[in-house]
Amino acid sequence: MIGFPALAATSMEQGRIAAHHACGEPLHGLGQTQPIGIYTIPEISFVGRTEEELTHENVPFEAGISRYRELARGQIIGDSYGVLKLLVNLDDHRLLGVHVFGTGATELIHIGQAVMGCGGTVDYLVDAVFNYPTLAEAYKVAALDAMNKMRQIAKFS
Ligand SMILES: Cc1cc2nc3c(=O)[nH]c(=O)nc-3n(C[C@H](O)[C@H](O)[C@H](O)COP(=O)(O)OP(=O)(O)OC[C@H]3O[C@@H](n4cnc5c(N)ncnc54)[C@H](O)[C@@H]3O)c2cc1C
Repeated sequence: MIGFPALAATSMEQGRIAAHHACGEPLHGLGQTQPIGIYTIPEISFVGRTEEELTHENVPFEAGISRYRELARGQIIGDSYGVLKLLVNLDDHRLLGVHVFGTGATELIHIGQAVMGCGGTVDYLVDAVFNYPTLAEAYKVAALDAMNKMRQIAKFS
């Protein structure tokens, strides 16, 4: 009845908000960072904006990519196809979107969701230390990729 994104987790939150509203309790409304999870093989998950949306809206961004096959954990589990992509605002370095497909994508997405929800930047992910060997390391690798590209752009502009 409510429409997009028609997922159980979002519906639960919509229900909680509706109950609060019905009972006159204070509420904050639905947040902007609702994760999408698609339980295919491989899993697909994303939160925030897409490259197409940002391009259409003329938002300056850079994409940082990490491939599971380049991570120790990716090699251990034999996932050679997984990819994590960060979309970063060129101006203030905030995360605008996170897109993952591969093993554990619907779990991994919550790291990006938490960083985005707190207004975090790619600088945080560049500096953060992640457990090794984990798939979560993909965040640091993608952040370094984005940062390297952004430094190149800054150098030439
Ligand atoms: C096959 C399938 C797989 C899915 N898998 C996933 C998944 O893996 N992950 C995920 O996040 N989402 C999944 N979804 C989507 C998710 O189940 C729905 O988005 C979510 O349940 C919607 O919640 P809701 O409370 O809005 O509606 P519903 O869960 O549909 O609840 C509506 C309720 O209203 C009742 N109702 C309807 N009309 C009336 C009436 N006139 N009077 C009284 N009661 C009425 C219905 O009986 C129902 O209990 C899946 C959906 C399907 C169909």
